[in-house]
Amino acid sequence: MSSFLQAADDELTIFERSRPGRRAFVAPPLEVPERPLDELIPATLRRAQAPRLPEVSEPEIVRHYNRLSKRNFDLDTGFYPLGSCTMKHNPKLHERVAALPGHARLHPLQEVDGAQGALELMWRLSQALGEIAGLPHVSLQPAAGSHGELAGVLVSRAYHEDRGEFARRKVLIPDAAHGTNPATVAMAGCEVVKVGTDASGNVDLDDLRAKASEEVVCLMLTNPSTLGLFEPGIEEIERIVHGVGATLYYDGANLNAIMGISRPGDMGFDIVHFNLHKSFTQPHGGGGPGAGPIAVGEALEPYLPRPQVVRRPAAGGAGNGAAGAAADWFYDLDYERPKSIGRLRGFQGNYGVFVRSYAYIRSLGAAGLREVSEVAVLNANYLLARLRQEGVLELLPTAYERICMHEFVLSGAPMKRELGIRTLDLAKRLLDHGVHPPTVYFPLIVDEALLVEPTETETRETLDRFAEVVAAVLREAREDPEIARSAPHTTPVRRLDEAAAARRPVVRQAI
Ligand SMILES: *Cc1c(COP(=O)(O)O)cnc(C)c1O
Repeated sequence: MSSFLQAADDELTIFERSRPGRRAFVAPPLEVPERPLDELIPATLRRAQAPRLPEVSEPEIVRHYNRLSKRNFDLDTGFYPLGSCTMKHNPKLHERVAALPGHARLHPLQEVDGAQGALELMWRLSQALGEIAGLPHVSLQPAAGSHGELAGVLVSRAYHEDRGEFARRKVLIPDAAHGTNPATVAMAGCEVVKVGTDASGNVDLDDLRAKASEEVVCLMLTNPSTLGLFEPGIEEIERIVHGVGATLYYDGANLNAIMGISRPGDMGFDIVHFNLHKSFTQPHGGGGPGAGPIAVGEALEPYLPRPQVVRRPAAGGAGNGAAGAAADWFYDLDYERPKSIGRLRGFQGNYGVFVRSYAYIRSLGAAGLREVSEVAVLNANYLLARLRQEGVLELLPTAYERICMHEFVLSGAPMKRELGIRTLDLAKRLLDHGVHPPTVYFPLIVDEALLVEPTETETRETLDRFAEVVAAVLREAREDPEIARSAPHTTPVRRLDEAAAARRPVVRQAI
């Protein structure tokens, strides 16, 4: 087929491909006596007319969905340097493990004695996460980082109220924080108090001291921050926050910068959330399932969600591990938690995510996790150096001139002033070069922000190419800024009205 015909064919919807009588699947003849429809579905519940469904052959439907899948930009197609998101490569091995029937077919209502393997995996994952966080008690229940945040604020409040401190309603949040942090605080019925950022990009300690009081529930902190910078004042921050009896909450979205190198628990944090779908692999594009377990220390353990996965010595356990002997351990769900904040979601969490994260942790081991963080930080600093070498930083300077962690923030303000293109235009033009744009306009405190996170799985050649592509877009814009302003030019869909797409989404195919 010529590319012209191919292109025209690509435009057809599945309904336009439909022809009466075409079928992708034909059911075998009934082997049981046919029963009248009235007996099966009452007439009042039945449609008056058959639904209008496309009638297509199997090759047509396979091609249709394959074509659609190729119109999306995805991590398996190209570089995806989205910041504060870590949509890293997901080793394919994890998919095979998660698809094993013992995992994939396990029923969520299975009795505990029929789900010992799954509970053991969850228990072991909790142990591993506790070790990484430096805080031993883990709840796997929260379904996302933001859900973990909610769990953490509720746990903190339960802890304070148990000590008779009911006046604590304020949560301190740096102005560089991710938007879910203040949203969580509002959901938990608390009040957001913003803490400023100083000239070097750190938490403004004087502002923190001024706002820390006995009305504070906790400080929520991301470290490294969303600016990609490690807080050198973390010990002083810990003293200030604990000095007023508040708890210190670690937003773990950037944990992949420090795994195996330093532990939030050792920095003085009381609660940590993990974004398993960011730091411990899990395809999460398109809002797929995630998991946001939290880890806490002894003082907060009684308030963790209910039930907890626990391990007990098995009745009649042989204790010698001999083949055929009864198991040494029995894994159970503990509901006897009188001080718990209660249940946060149905069943035990997104189990498929647990399997993938556990596979990741076990296949890398402690040394491997440390290497992930070291290479993530090295790659970010290498890319920043390459961008500088290409002259990009003259128009897109770093927001703070420091060694970065696993990601860095550039400001497009000089580019906008001198070339007349905005960060959004640059991002859209990158799509024409087969590069997914970095995060744009976040963190909010940097004008025309561009947040770049290469992650550890990209090759040096890919990082070099990214630096060259950004430089090429800037050179082109110097000649003709209109090309970037009207980009993308080569994608199946051109520039979208993003506000309308978010506020008035059309989620049905036009027929
Ligand atoms: C992604 C992110 C969150 C929220 O996590 P979700 O899993 O998307 O709910 C919170 N804080 C930071 C810094 C993040 O990057």
